[in-house]
Amino acid sequence: MQMLSQTHKLEISNRKSEISSVYAYLEKPSLVDYPKHFAAVFFISGCGFTCGFCHNAALMGKKQTGLSWDKLEAACAKFKKDWVNGVVITGGEPTGTPNLEELILFFKKRFGFNVKLDTNGSNPEQLAECLPLVDYVAMDIKCALPTYPDFVGFSDTGKIQSSIDLIRSKAKDYEFRTTVIESVHTDEQMAAIYETVKGAKRYALQAFIPRDELPEEQYRTTPRTTAARLKELQILMAGCADELCLRGA
Ligand code: SF4
Repeated sequence: MQMLSQTHKLEISNRKSEISSVYAYLEKPSLVDYPKHFAAVFFISGCGFTCGFCHNAALMGKKQTGLSWDKLEAACAKFKKDWVNGVVITGGEPTGTPNLEELILFFKKRFGFNVKLDTNGSNPEQLAECLPLVDYVAMDIKCALPTYPDFVGFSDTGKIQSSIDLIRSKAKDYEFRTTVIESVHTDEQMAAIYETVKGAKRYALQAFIPRDELPEEQYRTTPRTTAARLKELQILMAGCADELCLRGA
């Protein structure tokens, strides 16, 4: 019988990358980041969008050096002992990292975690490779597709549409989601988003929360989304998906 330590050595020697692509992780597991899971949250650095309202501004821009596999292994072992049953791979934008498939398989095969992948939809090619491996995908629909260049600095909206189509047809389970900024997400914007997500399995409307560290000053003082606006949008978006969720109302 092969010993666990031997298996581990074998896995390490077979790894394509020297270090993992995880930049950081939350010390405490989360009950809100992965539906029906007690989940550890891992961050990948780097993102090609320039969202002025980004809550993880330190992870925007270029990729930064990741944690060693040994550190990641120790963190996962602790999470496992603490009853964690899922992991969230978020960012930044996880699909920008070349070794994402390797990381997903590490979480699944070594620790038996279910894996949720967060994405902005900018890399449908890599997403297509990851979809058979992950258990849940959450993709941001930032705004109506024609306004992506202005709002998030990304102009190849054909890629966003491709990711949406892929997730609808190939993901085991998924959601599309929009963080609602009242001055941006007008009824007109939301009507366009309705058409984009129409027929989806799940769509979530999330409250925007201002913070002092947001990249663009205008968003630091933008008010939090009101419960009243989220309820209005719940009516406006009714029927766009099998399941419609409000978060932060
Ligand atoms: S896509 Fe996400 S991580 Fe990238 S800049 Fe926008 S909010 Fe930040």
